[in-house]
Amino acid sequence: MTNIDLLKAVEEFESPLYIYDADKIIAQYKRLTNAFKKVNSLRVNYAVKALSNIAVLQLLKGQGSCLDTVSIQEVKLGLTAGFDPRDIIFTPNGVSLSEIEAVAKMGVQINIDNLSVLEAFGTKHPKIPVCVRINPHVMAGGNTNISVGHIDSKFGISIHQIPHLLRIVENTKMHINGIHMHTGSDILDIDVFLYASEILFDTAKHFKELDFLDFGSGFKVPYKDGDIETNIEEFGEKLTKRFNAFEKEYGRPLTLAFEPGKFLVSESGKFLVQVNSVKQTTSTVFAQVDSGFNHLIRPMLYGSSHEIKNISNPNGKERFYSVVGYICETDTFANNRKIAEITEGDILAFSNAGAYCFTMASNYNSRFRPAEVLFMEGKAKLIRERETFDDLLRHQIPLEDLAVAK
Ligand SMILES: *Cc1c(COP(=O)(O)O)cnc(C)c1O
Repeated sequence: MTNIDLLKAVEEFESPLYIYDADKIIAQYKRLTNAFKKVNSLRVNYAVKALSNIAVLQLLKGQGSCLDTVSIQEVKLGLTAGFDPRDIIFTPNGVSLSEIEAVAKMGVQINIDNLSVLEAFGTKHPKIPVCVRINPHVMAGGNTNISVGHIDSKFGISIHQIPHLLRIVENTKMHINGIHMHTGSDILDIDVFLYASEILFDTAKHFKELDFLDFGSGFKVPYKDGDIETNIEEFGEKLTKRFNAFEKEYGRPLTLAFEPGKFLVSESGKFLVQVNSVKQTTSTVFAQVDSGFNHLIRPMLYGSSHEIKNISNPNGKERFYSVVGYICETDTFANNRKIAEITEGDILAFSNAGAYCFTMASNYNSRFRPAEVLFMEGKAKLIRERETFDDLLRHQIPLEDLAVAK
């Protein structure tokens, strides 16, 4: 998408606006599947929570992708998008047994990450095959907000509890058909991931009728020039070798599964905002835009550093700005960032706005959530309308409608 494409999209659909490049999503999907082309059976379960617009789900379905879901609502979105229930895996954490049962009834693969739930589910439904999520206790990345495989994490069944897990399986006669892990959101070091994979292989040896091994996700994508990125090609080569050798040793065909979210959609997205005011203070120059953490919370929540470009004046002289929002609370997008000179009314483009951006948006300050656009075949197509005032009022009940005794 060129700056002209982006500016045209804002003209047509107004700001703030999320726009996703379909070609980039497809290219990332192909990169991943290519890296693992020497695996007999590969399955990509796109993590719906990263970007859950059904047009995006359908785009990925067209590439052959399956889905990873974390709520029954995400499962229903997948089914609405046209996915076969068998092409969906449900990997919840801390949800009720009744929700897990309802999803299993739809024919979706269940992935359980808690021994008490496993025991309850296996006792009631011994015939429904279940995948188990283990926690290999490997620290990925280093940011505890986004590493979910370490010892203090709430996710997964600890590898130290495997004997207990095996006892439950034996007692209930349930069928475990897959082993899963998801170590966190940033794999900086392929060797760390391969180390965790060995733990998955060791665990798998305890189960005789597995159909798949799910290695989760954690592929790192670059946020700016020079950022470390998971070398997917090298990773594919190394893990393929180990996986194929393990499959032979295991003596039964196995599917290698992944659940990428960020890797597939992060870089496809741009978030486009307009500058309401440029405010010079004694210490800095603020560029205040027509959005805030209600639309893009990652910088405030995780300290994510999204690259910001002034696409209205791309060749302007660079100056330092603090880019902030219009929320009545601190909502800093970037501090002391070098950006081409900004004039009020300019359009700024945030990079890496495809994953965990729109899906985390809220109505805080009673603002509308933005429109979403898919850029396909050289054209920007609306895939979600901007909210309206009616959306804000929907489901609210005014006082005069309450039957309160006078
Ligand atoms: C969120 C999540 C993913 C996707 O992680 P990314 O870092 O976006 O690739 C995969 N698997 C599970 C279980 C998740 O919760």
